[in-house]
Amino acid sequence: MRRLLYLALIFFPAVMGVAQNQSASSIPPYKNPSLPVEQRVQDLLGRMTLQEKVAMLSGADWMQSVPNERLGIPSIKMADGPIGIRSWAGPSSETKGAKKQVTTTAFPAGVAMAATWDTDLLQSEGRAIGQEMKSLGRDMILGPTVNINRTPLWGRNFEGYGEDPYLTSRLGVAYIKGVQGEGVIATVKHFAANNQEFERHRINAVVDERALQEIYFPAFKAAVQESGVWSVMSAYNKLNGVYCAENSFLLKDTLQKQWGFEGFVVSDWGSTYSTVGTVNAGMDLEMPGGEPMKNWLKKPGTQAAGNGGGWLVPQKVLPEISAGKISTATINDNVGRILRVIFISGQFDKPHAATGEVDTPEQRTLARKAATESIVLLKNAGNILPLDPVKIHSVVVIGPNAAVSRTGGGGSSLAVPKYSISPLKGIQDRAGNRMQVSDVLGVAMEGEDPSKDTPDAREQLRNEAVAAARKADAAIIVVGRYSKLESEDFDIKSLDLPAGQDDLIQAVAKVNKNTVVVINAGGPVTMTKWISEVPALVDMWYGGQEGGNAIADVLFGNANPSGKLPVSFVKQWKDSPAYGHYPGENLQVDYAEGIYVGYRYFDKHKIEPLFPFGYGLSYTKFDYSDLKVSPNDASSGQTVEVSLQVRNSGSRPGAEVVELYVHDGHASVDRPVQELKGFQRVVLAAGETKSVHFTLDRSAMAFYSTAKKDWVAEPGQFDVLVGSSSRDIRMKSSFMLKP
Ligand code: BGC
Repeated sequence: MRRLLYLALIFFPAVMGVAQNQSASSIPPYKNPSLPVEQRVQDLLGRMTLQEKVAMLSGADWMQSVPNERLGIPSIKMADGPIGIRSWAGPSSETKGAKKQVTTTAFPAGVAMAATWDTDLLQSEGRAIGQEMKSLGRDMILGPTVNINRTPLWGRNFEGYGEDPYLTSRLGVAYIKGVQGEGVIATVKHFAANNQEFERHRINAVVDERALQEIYFPAFKAAVQESGVWSVMSAYNKLNGVYCAENSFLLKDTLQKQWGFEGFVVSDWGSTYSTVGTVNAGMDLEMPGGEPMKNWLKKPGTQAAGNGGGWLVPQKVLPEISAGKISTATINDNVGRILRVIFISGQFDKPHAATGEVDTPEQRTLARKAATESIVLLKNAGNILPLDPVKIHSVVVIGPNAAVSRTGGGGSSLAVPKYSISPLKGIQDRAGNRMQVSDVLGVAMEGEDPSKDTPDAREQLRNEAVAAARKADAAIIVVGRYSKLESEDFDIKSLDLPAGQDDLIQAVAKVNKNTVVVINAGGPVTMTKWISEVPALVDMWYGGQEGGNAIADVLFGNANPSGKLPVSFVKQWKDSPAYGHYPGENLQVDYAEGIYVGYRYFDKHKIEPLFPFGYGLSYTKFDYSDLKVSPNDASSGQTVEVSLQVRNSGSRPGAEVVELYVHDGHASVDRPVQELKGFQRVVLAAGETKSVHFTLDRSAMAFYSTAKKDWVAEPGQFDVLVGSSSRDIRMKSSFMLKP
C-alpha cells in the first residue's frame, strides 16, 4: 500500500490535499479527496450492496468497466495499445459514443522501441500515450506487452521488448511511469508465459520454476515493484496446467503475496473458464462484458478458437457466494482493488475530460525521434551508407514495403494514425533535387494481390526491378512482412521473407553493387540466401507513422543510426532455442530450453547467430577505455560501481549503447555465459569523451534457487564484461563477492 500512496503523492497532490469548497464533514469519506485512499476504499465498500460489488467483477461492454451511478463510481474506459492508442472502430466500437474511427499517434512497434535502448524515450512515449488517452476521455491503456521473445516465430514478437528480461524490465518500467504519471492506468500484459499465438486459448505452457523467475517474470515484477503498475492482464494460455486467469500461483502467491501488487488483474479478452476458481485466484475484472460479450461468445468462431467468458456475471457469482464457495472477504478484496486504482489514479475525483488533442506536433516529433533511434544498421561494407550525393546521382526504390507505409504488426496493437510516411515518400523528400529517385514494385507482398503472386507475374515484376536497378547508381530494396502475415492470433509461418522477396534481392544485387536492403518487419528474418551479396543492410522494424522519414534520415546521413538488436537474429530457424519444442503437441508446449533463451542459448551452445543480441553499427566509431570496478571485494549486500570512458573517435556525432554483462563462473548451478545487467545510451559529438557509470546491486549477481525458493548471490568471483554487443565485449574486469 505504501508504494501506491507514494505514487499518489507524487502524481496527484490534489488527491491527498484538502478538498476545496466543501467542508470535510458534509461529504461522505469516500468522496473526500483529502482522506487516505485506503480509508476511502473501505468506506465505499461499506456502502455498497453485495449485488453492486459483484456487478463490478465483469465489464459493462467491450472496453468499459461497470459504473455505479448511485455512489458515483465511474466506469474505467479502456483502449488498446501499447504502440499508440488503437482506434476503437471495428469490434471495439461497442464503446459508447465512438461513432467514427479514432486516429492517434502510431509509435514504432515495441521491438523497435526496444532497439533504442532509451529508457527516457520510452517514458516520453508512455507520457504522450497517457496524454492522448486523456484527450480521448479514456482511462486505461492495455499495455505495455512485456512477454519475452522465446521464439522468432511468435506472431506478436513485434509488440514486446525482445528476448532479454533485464532490457524488457527497464523499458516496461519507463513506459508505465510515463503513462501513470498522467493519471492513466497502465496494464502490463500478458501474465504469464504468453509466448506464442498458436492455440493461444488452449495451449499449456510448461515452464520450470527457474525459467519463470529468471526469464518470464522479471518484467512483471519490475512493473509492480518499480513502477507501481495499477493493472496486470492475465494471459490466455495455461501455465503448468492451469489457465492464467484462474492460476492462484500466479495471481495470489506471486503477484499479490510475493510482489505486493495492490492494483487489479484484468482478464485478457475472453480468457476465463470458471467462476469460483477465477474469483478466488484473484482475477478481479473479467473482460469483455455485457451485451457485446454475450453476442461475441455466441459467434461460432469465438468458441471454436477456444475463447471463454461470461463467468463473472452476477448470475453466476452470487449463487457461489450463497453456496459458500466464494467469501465476501474475497469479493471485498477483488472489488477493493478496482476501487483503489480508481481513487489512486485520480479518476474518481477528476474524470478525464476528452477535450484535448491527439497527434500534436510534439507527439509527431517524438514518434519520429523514436523511429530514428530504433533503426539498426546491420551491415555497411565499404561504407556505402550514408548515400553520398557526390557519387550517387540516382536511386531506385524497390520492394513491397517501399511505397506503402507498414506502421505496425496486426491485431489489437495496431494504431491508426492520421497520416504515415512510407519509405519511398521519406526518400523522395530527403533526396529533393540532389538525387533522382524512381520506384518499382519488384514483388508484391505475398497474399495482398493474388494476381501478382503467380510465377509469371513475379518474374515480370522482378525483371522490371532488375532493369531499373541496372540503370540506377544505387538500389534500395524495402522488404519484410505486414500486418496480415505478422499478427496477434497466429504465428509467423516461416522465418524466411515472404514469397519472392529473397529472389528479388538476389536478382537486384547482381546488377547493382550499391544495393541497400531495408528490413521492415517485426523481428528477425533469414538472410543466408543473399546476405553476402548485399553490401548494406538496415532494419527499420515497424517504425510507426514516421518510419519513412526516419529511414530516409538514416540512409542520407541526416541521422546516425544508433539502434541495437533487442533480439538475436539466427542464421536459420533450426538454430533457435525453441526449435524442436515449439509449438508443442497435444496442446502442450514444453519450454525445454529453460533459462537458455536468446543469447543465453547461443552462448551456451556456441552457436554463431547471424547478428547477435545487442548488435548495431554506426557511421562513427566508439572507443572504450578505463574500465574501473570498485570495490574489488564486495561484502554481501554492498553495491559495486563500474565506470568507463567512451569516446567518439569518428568524424560524425552519434550515440552508442554501452552494454554491461555479468558472468558468474563459480555458482553451484549452471549459469549463462553472460547476462545483461546494465546499459546506457550515450550521445557523443565527434571527438567527445564521456564517462559512463553503472551500479551493480545484488540482483545483478543473484540467480533463482529452486532449492531455497529465493534469489541467491553466491560468494566468489563475478566477471564484468562491457561492450558494444553481446559478441563485441571490449573490456573485462571482475570483483569478488565476500561471504
Ligand atoms: C489481446 C490483448 C488485448 C485484448 C483487447 C486480446 O486479444 O490479447 O492484448 O488487449 O485483446 O483488445
